[in-house]
Amino acid sequence: MGATEAFTSTADIGHHINGRAVASTSGRTQAVYNPATGAVARQVALASAAEVNAAVAAGVAAFPAWSDMPPIRRSRIMFKFLELMNQHRDTLAAIITAEHGKVFTDAQGEVSRGIDIIEFACGIPQLLKGDYTEQVSTGIDNWTLRQPLGVVAGVTPFNFPCMVPLWMFPVAIAAGNCFVLKPSERDPSAPIFMAELLKQAGLPDGVFGVVQGDKLAVDTLLTHPDVKAISFVGSTPIAQYIYETGAHHGKRVQALGGAKNHLVVMPDANLDQTVDALIGAGYGSAGERCMAISVAVAVGDVADKLVAALAARVKTLKIKNGMELDAEMGPVITREALMRIEGYIATGVTEGAALVVDGRGCKVPGFEGGFFTGGTLFDHVTPAMRIYKEEIFGPVLGVVRVADFAAAVDLVNGHEFGNGVACFTSDGNVAREFARRIQVGMVGINVPIPVPMAWHGFGGWKKSLFGDMNAYGEEGVRFYTKQKSVMQRWPASIAKGAEFVMPTAK
Ligand code: NAD
Repeated sequence: MGATEAFTSTADIGHHINGRAVASTSGRTQAVYNPATGAVARQVALASAAEVNAAVAAGVAAFPAWSDMPPIRRSRIMFKFLELMNQHRDTLAAIITAEHGKVFTDAQGEVSRGIDIIEFACGIPQLLKGDYTEQVSTGIDNWTLRQPLGVVAGVTPFNFPCMVPLWMFPVAIAAGNCFVLKPSERDPSAPIFMAELLKQAGLPDGVFGVVQGDKLAVDTLLTHPDVKAISFVGSTPIAQYIYETGAHHGKRVQALGGAKNHLVVMPDANLDQTVDALIGAGYGSAGERCMAISVAVAVGDVADKLVAALAARVKTLKIKNGMELDAEMGPVITREALMRIEGYIATGVTEGAALVVDGRGCKVPGFEGGFFTGGTLFDHVTPAMRIYKEEIFGPVLGVVRVADFAAAVDLVNGHEFGNGVACFTSDGNVAREFARRIQVGMVGINVPIPVPMAWHGFGGWKKSLFGDMNAYGEEGVRFYTKQKSVMQRWPASIAKGAEFVMPTAK
């Protein structure tokens, strides 16, 4: 696939199995839309169990040679892939905008944050280094090493079709595993493009496969005896299902789920900076980010001025086709998502929240069929409301008013999700207390979207993550490898006679 046909082609999108593009034989397809126009752009194949099995079998066949290759040589292939990704950064961003709808500049950011993980994975020789203790007992040494698992799989959501797969496969394959990716069926082209770049980088056939599909493909991976681990990112009900089913079938699972992220505004926060942060984090990518801020917690007397400043900005958001370079917000992913989001707005009104800015019914000239909704702002949201409790996953920001800092902390800690959170304040002690006491996995102090960098690892708490290990970073390396401990001595240092007591250091 060349650079331009990657996002203008109307051909069906198939799989990438054993190093080759494979057209589907299942006879099942699903429409992929251009969300800006609302038109069907192409069809994506939905894999049969046999097609998924073929991708896993290619991984099983490739694993012995790939895992045997010295890490530094695997790292050189990752370096080549990194170079190609940098070269095709804007093509990938355009592919993302064409199928997801997010604005092009935001898509460029997504690709860059994904590339960070490839850079991290290029350091795999250092990351796989083991620990060694000389003389754990007289004449005996002990060391630990980490070895890859085999074939591992990833199942990813629509909202980051490039970055979220990159949270997984660079680390997994650099560590010596083979990887089968089941991307979102709503924007499936970016992973296929990356598979072709991996091939160009010299990755042996079978090490990386992409199977397009739906629940059938996911269930085939979840129950497949040759799939040793599953990484999942998506909504909480599916994350929980993946975690339970994968564990039942003896796999390692890390399953990242949904979110409801709060930004606490203290009365001493710089108001202009806070409003900028809330506008970007609440409405960027049309709120379709797992780290989007969907609740502003106004502490003390800050609420009236905060809501007034937010309302003025929300009304003037530049909502356009994402390929227009001054666009601030594009369409949402599908008509169903649009209806769900606007349905939540109606629910919020019924529940008694104050609708300050109503984004429903937004029309973009020239793109009347697109899946656009405007920015919506609610005030006087309460914890009992569905618009507070549930993930809307759209450009809807709710303001909850609380009396003081302690009430803000209790509010956040009482929510069932714990992905990201932020506190805007000028008081170092408040910031410190907030970071210590908050029951959330990723915390920003005057940083609205605190997505950890590649070497720190990503993961929420509570119903935002099922499993013990974060994505990428050193936890990612641990997730995709198992520890082996070796204890060694040589004949000259072995004492005569059988030992019947538990060996201790001598
Ligand atoms: P989703 O849960 O609908 O789909 C995610 C993946 O699961 C897709 O590949 C899909 O094909 C598959 N899937 C869907 N239903 C399935 C089923 N019944 N059985 C097996 N597999 C199934 O999520 P989405 O709508 O694509 O993405 C948005 C969600 O992802 C939001 O909830 C968002 O918060 C979450 N998300 C979380 C993070 C995080 O890091 N925690 C990051 C990005 C997105």
